[in-house]
This record gives sequence, C-alpha cells and structure tokens, in this order.
Amino acid sequence: MDKAEILAKFSADPDKYYKVNLFEEQGYQRKVCPTCGRFFWTIDENRNYCPEDSDDTYSFIGDPPTLKRFDYSQAWNEIELFFTKNGHTSVSRYPVVCRWRDDLYFTIASIVNFQRVMGSKVVFEFPANPIIVPQPCLRFKDLENVGITGRHFSSFCMIGQLSIPNEQGYWKDECIDLDFRLLTNQFGINKNEIVFVEDVWEGGGSFGSSLEYYVRGLELGNAVFTEFQGELGNHTVLDQKIIDMGAGLERFAWITMGTPTAYDCCFGPITEKLIDKVGIDIEPDLLSQYFIEIAKNQEKYPNILEVKNHAIANVGLDQQKVLQGINPLEGIYLIADHIRTLIFAISDGALPSNVGGGYNLRIVLRRIIGTMQRLGLKLDLNEMIDMHIDYLKATYPELEEKRADVKTIIGVEYKRYEESKIRMEKIAINLKAKKHVLNVNDLIRMYESDGITPDYLKELDVIPEIPPTFYSKLSELHQMVDTKQKEKLPLENTAETELLFYGDDPREFEAKVLGSFDKYVVLDKTSFYARGGGQEPDHGTISGFEVVDVNKHGNVVVHELKDGIPKEGKTVHCIIDSKRREGITKHHTSTHILNSSARNILGSWVWQNSAFKEEDHARLDITHHSALTKEQVKKIEECANKIVQKDMQVTIENFDRGTAEQKYGFRIYQGGVVPVKSVRIVSIGDFDVEACGGTHVKKTKEIDLIKITRTKRIQDGVVRLEFVAGPAAQEYVKTHEADLAKLTAEDVAKEERDNLRDQKKAEAREKIPGLIEQIMETKTGTTTIDEIEVTTADAVRFCCTTSEQYDEYFHINFGEKLIKADSKASYCGIFEAGSTLRTIVYVGESSKNRNAVAIAKAVSEILGGFGGGNNRFAQGGGKDKSKKDEAIKKARQMVLE
Ligand SMILES: [Zn+2]
Ligand SMILES: [Zn+2]
Repeated sequence: MDKAEILAKFSADPDKYYKVNLFEEQGYQRKVCPTCGRFFWTIDENRNYCPEDSDDTYSFIGDPPTLKRFDYSQAWNEIELFFTKNGHTSVSRYPVVCRWRDDLYFTIASIVNFQRVMGSKVVFEFPANPIIVPQPCLRFKDLENVGITGRHFSSFCMIGQLSIPNEQGYWKDECIDLDFRLLTNQFGINKNEIVFVEDVWEGGGSFGSSLEYYVRGLELGNAVFTEFQGELGNHTVLDQKIIDMGAGLERFAWITMGTPTAYDCCFGPITEKLIDKVGIDIEPDLLSQYFIEIAKNQEKYPNILEVKNHAIANVGLDQQKVLQGINPLEGIYLIADHIRTLIFAISDGALPSNVGGGYNLRIVLRRIIGTMQRLGLKLDLNEMIDMHIDYLKATYPELEEKRADVKTIIGVEYKRYEESKIRMEKIAINLKAKKHVLNVNDLIRMYESDGITPDYLKELDVIPEIPPTFYSKLSELHQMVDTKQKEKLPLENTAETELLFYGDDPREFEAKVLGSFDKYVVLDKTSFYARGGGQEPDHGTISGFEVVDVNKHGNVVVHELKDGIPKEGKTVHCIIDSKRREGITKHHTSTHILNSSARNILGSWVWQNSAFKEEDHARLDITHHSALTKEQVKKIEECANKIVQKDMQVTIENFDRGTAEQKYGFRIYQGGVVPVKSVRIVSIGDFDVEACGGTHVKKTKEIDLIKITRTKRIQDGVVRLEFVAGPAAQEYVKTHEADLAKLTAEDVAKEERDNLRDQKKAEAREKIPGLIEQIMETKTGTTTIDEIEVTTADAVRFCCTTSEQYDEYFHINFGEKLIKADSKASYCGIFEAGSTLRTIVYVGESSKNRNAVAIAKAVSEILGGFGGGNNRFAQGGGKDKSKKDEAIKKARQMVLE
C-alpha cells in the first residue's frame, strides 16, 4: 500500500481523521507548509511553515524552551510520574533481544514488546491497559550517523504510551490531550511551541492516521492510531484498534537541556569525563552553531559527509577546530553510544559473533576499538561499562547483576580482535600498496570474510571515508532471521488431532483413521509424539504396521508407516514403543538440566541455540563465546548430576502466555517462539523453567546419570554438547571405563590443543565463501586477497598461497570450492605439516593446463619429495623449507604459460 495515497485520503477529511477535541479547545489552526506541502496544526498565528522548515528549527540548542533541566533518567522520571498519575501502568522494559518474535533479532520499537505470534498472525497482548514503558530499542541501519548528527543512536529509549480503546483505555482525543499536557504541565513548554503534523502509518496489513508532535523542529513523539486493515478503499475497521505513541526519551532530555547534541545529556557523567580526559579544543558557542547546522540540514544533502562539510563551511571552522574539536568529540559520542548498546544486548543474552544478530554487536565493538585507535584514545572499557551501569541502573536496575558478565564478554571479544589484528594489518597494507578503489560491496565482503571494518581501513588510510551506505547495507543483510517452510500435505479439511500424550499418555490406544494416503495416516487422536522442539518422534505400530515417523502439520498429526496403511474409517489398535519413548524422554529432561547447568557454570549469556533428543543420545547447542575446556565440561556434568541425584520434581503447568512471561521472564523461551496463546511451562524446581511441548520424566532421579561425551565449537558463538542419559549413560561408562580412568594431564593438554585447532579451522572454514566471492570479482591482473595471490587473465585464474595461517583442511576446502565456482581456475597451496612441507593442487575442468598431478609432481620435486593424484586433484610435498617460493613459482609458470 502506498503511504502517500493513504495520507492524501486522510488529509482530505481532516475532521474525521485528525481533528481531536484538544485542537478545538485550544484554538489550534490547520495550515499547509508552503515548502513541503504537509498539513500541520498550530496555535501560533505567525507560524506558517511546518516544524522542519521553520526558522526556529533546532533553536533549542543553547536556548531550551523549558525552565527546568532534565537529563535522561530525570526525563523518564517526569514522564513516568505524569502517566501513572493519569491512570497508566508503568511496565518495566522488555529484553532488547526479541525472543518472542522469530522474524526479529532485536526489539526495534516499544510496541514490539506486546506483539506475539499466533500461527502466522501477529496479535497484541497487553499486560495492562493503558501502558507506559521505557523500552531500549536497537537499530543498526543508521550506524554511520551515530556520533555525528547529534541525535542518532544505535540504541535509544522509545517511550511507549499504549492504549486499547475499551473500558480502561482511550482513543485519539484523550491521547493527544495527554501528550499536550505532558509537554505543557509536566515539562513547562509553552503551548505556542507545540506543533502537530499529520501523517499516516501502515505495516503488516493494517494502517491508520498519526500525529507527530514537534517542539522547535525536534520531533518528540508520534502517536499512531492503528485502526484499519485491508486495501485502502476496501478496508475494514480492526476489532482491536490500538494507540501506539512512541517518543524518544533522549529527545525529551535534549530539549530541556539545550546541549549541542543529545549525547551530551543522555550518558550521565560519561561524555563529560571522556571530554576531560581527551581534551577538546573548540568554543562551546561554535559547537552549538555547528550542531544546529548539522541538525537543520540533515535531509538536504545526499549523505552525512556532505552535511558535515557544509556545516564546517557555514560556521567557518578551520582545520584545527575540526581535527581537535569536532573529530574527537564525534569519537567520544560514538564510543559512549556503542558501549551502552553492548551493555543492553549482552545483559539480555546476546553475544557478538559473525552470525545473525551477533553480527551487529561485533561490528559495534570493532567500531569502538577502531575509533579509540584512530583518535589515539587510551580508554578503559571496563571503567566505561561501570559508569554506564552506575548511571542507567536508576532506570534499569536489572543491569546491575549483569555487570561482570558484560565485562567478560567484551573482554573476550576485545582479545579476539587484537589477535586478528596482525592479519588484518597485512591485508590493509597490501590493499594500500595496490591503490585499489574499494566500493561498498568490497567493504562488506571484507568485513564478512575477514572482520575488517571500514573504520579500521580509514584509520590506516586505505580508504578516505566510510561510504555512507555501508552500515545500512550491512544491517539489511543481517536484520531478519530466515524462517523456513514445511512441506505441504493435502490436509485442508482434516480435523485437528487430539493429543493424548498431553493427557493420560497411554502406550496402547484405539483410534479412528480420518485420512490415509501414500504412506501417511491421520487419526482422530494419538499418543504418538510428533517430532518437535528437537524431540524425535515416537515409533511403534498402528494396526500392525510399523510407524517410522510422526510429524505435525498445523494441528494435524501425520504418521508415516512402512509396508502398508490401514483404510480410512477403520478403528485401529496403536502401540507406542515404550522403551524408545522412555529413552527420548530422559534425554529431553536432561537437555533442560544441562542447559541450566551450563548457564550456572559459564555465564548468563548461555541460551539454548538448538537441541536434538533421540532414544540413546542427544545434543544441546548453547550460545557461548569459546570452545569449552575439559574443566568446564567436568563442572557442567557435575552440576547436572547433582540435580539428578536431588530427585527434584518436574512439574508441567499451562499458563496464559502473558502471565508466564510476567512470572518467569523471557528465559522460558529457550526453545524459541511459542506460537500459541497458552504455554506449557516445564519446571525443575526453580533450577530450570522453560516453555516446552516435549515429554519429561516426573522426578529427576529417573534419569539416573548424565554423561557428556563430546563438546565442540560448531560455529562462532555456539558450542555443541553431545551427551547420553539413563541406560545409555551407564552403557557409555561401561565401555569407556578403561579410557576414562587413564585420562592423564597430557591427554587434557592435548585435548585443549585440539579444541583450539578446531576453533581456528572453523574460523578459516567460515571465511572460504567470502574469499571465493571476492576472488570471482577480480579483474585481469594480479592481486592478493588475505595472503592468497590471485592472477586473473582471459582464460585462466590462478590462486596460490604459502601463508602459515592456512592448514590442510583449509587448502582442500578452498581448492574444491574455487574450481567449482570457476572451472577455469587452478589452485596451489603449500603449508608446513610438522617437519615437512606439503602441497595441495586443484585444477578446474575447463582450465588451459588441466593437469594437477603434473603440477604437484613438479612442485614436490623442487621441495625434495614426490607427488601424486589425478588431473583435478593432486598432492605431495618435501623437506626443503627454503624452496617454498621457488616451488610456488614453478606452479604459477605451469598454469599461466
Ligand atoms: Zn514543511
Ligand atoms: Zn524442552
């Protein structure tokens, strides 16, 4: 639907869509802006332009329109006081990691708190009505503006004033009346200064009118009246109309303080302390002028760099003032903003990584480090975390208990960055020497494959400026979670299956066949557990036919049989394989126990990433920053077995989703989003509480024993625990008794080395697709990408490397993928393996010289050894380490000449 079209229609009938009682009472007039054509409402007779095109735009900088000054926390206190006084329930913030929606990583607006998934629909569930909430929201698409514009944040507090118009709630008239009184009575803003601009909102199939309210050109809030659904013209009124008024808390503070930027009054004492430490050389007056220019002209130029250049010119700042005033200030603002974002995200259980939402967190931290290095700032990150939390805990007391965890995670991530710096530096120096012009796509690829941020490249002078679209493009690529589709079966008219395993859970039962087709059977009721939540399905027999798989399609359970199916309409006798079910059940409860054990031992950032439970084994993938040490595994296992031995009661209760969230918090969503209104809560005392649809033991001692058999870092930020429980664990102990006993210190050390190697390998493996993509785009000539030399000509492409950062695993995978992506490509890698050198050679199908074995033999001969293989793949090696370069030169000759 076209927003402009809706706006045109609504603005054509302002009495119906926009005129509220307040406008009448206060004598508001409706005017049209001669510059932009928007309609706005004002009391001020002399005001003829909309707030953004008016002369007084941003004049609050240096001259605020209020007598009282409120910083970030004080501004929230005023707002909360006003709304609770006026019948609103003040609700604590929700997590910034959006666990209750599978299409969002982060909470991006206050209304998102109250949106829940119901089948394929999004519904609203309010814990009270009306509500006021201070909701931190994370948005990464404007990252390049943060620190520069004075008002962009990577995380900001969106005050949500939310109401459903019913006996408790209200509609447009009261909403605007409240907002007006908030500004005038509570904040003391003169009513002549308050302007309402007509707008509309649409999204997710619904739409409605909205009124944005401004003071001196600053949009403080936007009251959205979601009222209609469907296509404009054919639309109907929603059963559940909603007011979603979102206001920026940072802006409320800013307008009363009149500081040059919103950053100056929203990070507590941090900004000032950093300025003192760094020393900024610019007069306050010039600073205000500069930021007014920036604010006023933000929409007038295509990108922020041009906005900056014009502001510098208009205010008449010399080079000195820019270098010693503006630049370090921007850096300080950026660092303070980014750390606050990391504090919220890590507190709520997110980890920086190279996948999913963790991606944005890693880039944010790398920007902090890059900025510190660029400006030569020696800042203690832990000290800044302390200052932020000390200040924020007045509004968000829950941050206190995560203080240590936030420091741990930022410390780990910082170290990781330092470790990769040498490699990054090499790449950057190489690029600089080659004088490549890098476009946005090149930069995105470099970040994705090597973790090199454009801030870093700017610092090393490889690029003159960060392209303004870099961060928005990157965050577009990483904003949404993919949701997968299930296979469709002809079940439209099939009644939903009664689920016996949630009731008496009989192991033998009679049922009626409602449908049978291909190898599938649908019954009127079933005790066969359908695959779900990582729990594997039950097996057994239906009418004598073996059941091999069971899946849920919507609310219908479909059984897959082997060797025949019973006829429709028939009553059948069904038997569940009890031994299998018991094994699976023990593993499922064990998964819950291990998940909480791992969190207790490792840290609050541990969440279930996914899980799989079979009859005789299971695995649990958890979010954690590094591979596990032997010691940690031991402790987790001990903790889990203590819970088993305590013989704790496992209770299952059904709750209304909202009630469960309020009672237990969002920790319950370990297994992901629950798409129904009633949630099934499985709790093991207060040790572990999860929303879960699986089968469980009644008391923990039934599990008898849990043994972790293997752990492995399977991707950045995710560790897999493979384990066995019950009889399978006893069996495991029996067969491994001897091995377990002779585990020596040496073995432990070896395992740790192996773990580290696995980690390195995993990192290299993750890099391969990005590298290949980069190589595919190289033009004629020779270039070096991450220490791989690439020569591209019409008919051939040759890649080679002797870099120590690559191991055998990398060479094989890289070579395979390269010749798959480009059949004219060849590859030769040489690497050290113990005391010898080895070589791996791949040659693509349509390569000019299709003879991998000849190349491997020639290379090996130079190295003092032998090679073998076929035309496509060959390997070899030798002992003479001084001949590496000569050998690679030979390979290059054989391919290119
Ligand atoms: Zn205008
Ligand atoms: Zn579960």
